[in-house]
Amino acid sequence: MSSFSDDLDLFRSEVAAFIAEKCPQKLKDMPASARTICWGGKRFEFASDEQRIWMENAASVGLTAPRWPVEYGGAGLSRAQEKVFREEMEKAKAPSPLESFGLWMLGPALLAFGTHEQKLKYLPDITNGRIRWCQGYSEPGAGSDLANVQTRAEDKGDHWVVNGQKIWTSYANHADWIFALVRTDKDAPKHKGISFMLIDMSETGVSTKPIKLISGSSPFCETFFDDVTVPKQDDGTSRIVGELNRGWDVAKHLLTHEREMIGGGGSGAAGGILGGRSLGAFIDTLDDHLMEDPIIRAETMELEIDTLAMGMTMERYKDMAKQGGVGHASAMLKYSGTELNKRRYEILMSITGSEGVEWDGDHGTLAPEWLRTKANSIEGGTSEVMLDILSKRVLELPSS
Ligand SMILES: Cc1cc2nc3c(=O)[nH]c(=O)nc-3n(C[C@H](O)[C@H](O)[C@H](O)COP(=O)(O)OP(=O)(O)OC[C@H]3O[C@@H](n4cnc5c(N)ncnc54)[C@H](O)[C@@H]3O)c2cc1C
Repeated sequence: MSSFSDDLDLFRSEVAAFIAEKCPQKLKDMPASARTICWGGKRFEFASDEQRIWMENAASVGLTAPRWPVEYGGAGLSRAQEKVFREEMEKAKAPSPLESFGLWMLGPALLAFGTHEQKLKYLPDITNGRIRWCQGYSEPGAGSDLANVQTRAEDKGDHWVVNGQKIWTSYANHADWIFALVRTDKDAPKHKGISFMLIDMSETGVSTKPIKLISGSSPFCETFFDDVTVPKQDDGTSRIVGELNRGWDVAKHLLTHEREMIGGGGSGAAGGILGGRSLGAFIDTLDDHLMEDPIIRAETMELEIDTLAMGMTMERYKDMAKQGGVGHASAMLKYSGTELNKRRYEILMSITGSEGVEWDGDHGTLAPEWLRTKANSIEGGTSEVMLDILSKRVLELPSS
């Protein structure tokens, strides 16, 4: 049972008092642009003691995963309570205590497909930030055509032997565990022979090689599996989530959460250089007179109206999710949200001109953030693939 009151007004005062007392003031005073994400994991180095304290305090009452059941490390909040919690966090300027692929992706998949034992074993380590997960889906020959994965797991009685390669595995070199799509039946039709496997990255034979980008950063890796032994049972708990050879169902479910999450970034005021401000408010900080330009004003207002509409659509789909999931509509959220964010940054780049592309200029992080928006419409499935899903699965248009 949640340690908070069910009454929404009481809950609001309880959670506001919790944030006031348990989130260190230094974090609340920090400008959004100076904040770093708390990812958790065995090898994570906290940016400050305050960041660690806030994560631990929030985790102690399940507030790193507000909606997850209390027995699995969450706070067991209703959707209305979660909304109040987010509002109070925003009011207090408290940062998110923990972000992770475990919270965004694996957790929802385990809650839907995992056994009670798997949930007990893996979810609390996600909510308390002990274990950091990465996502082993893409391969050199399986990106948009994800069902083509070739990494194979051979059945050796009481264990599997895994061989193959993943690519674009975000933060694999910082992760403790990986959730991976592996082929467990090579003779079955391609969607039917895949399983969703949990692999300890410290297992012998797992290695990662960071991919260096033109920006100099390395947010993702190639991940190799060379004769990796994966036990079938671990403390009596299976390393396969869902049914053997039915991993595609789990993978698709997880992708709807990933796409909703990525698309959600476009539905409100963006972080980064915008610091939570709307585009118009940010443009005013550049120059009071910019908004007098009719073209800038028209493009900005059009963007703001679309952002509001997207925000309302997100709210509608959150209600749908409460009734049992948004399914293929997540492709629409992902497409609209990421394309909207790209438009937002294109407007900013066109206003700031050559100064905007200077990496150490007045606008600091603008250029890398602008480039990052391009990746949003690739990760989790490209915009073209989202449109394809919408035309086939939602609009039911005939295939060409
Ligand atoms: C920032 C970032 C982080 C990522 N993190 C991860 C991660 O952690 N784990 C992971 O597993 N993967 C990750 N990925 C990989 C991502 O999922 C793939 O890049 C994506 O699915 C596209 O696959 P691909 O790169 O192989 O491109 P391809 O599938 O080769 O596509 C190339 C081009 O062809 C187009 N195309 C392909 N098929 C069709 C079609 N049927 N109809 C129309 N157009 C089509 C695509 O839209 C694209 O423009 C990440 C990617 C990015 C950019």
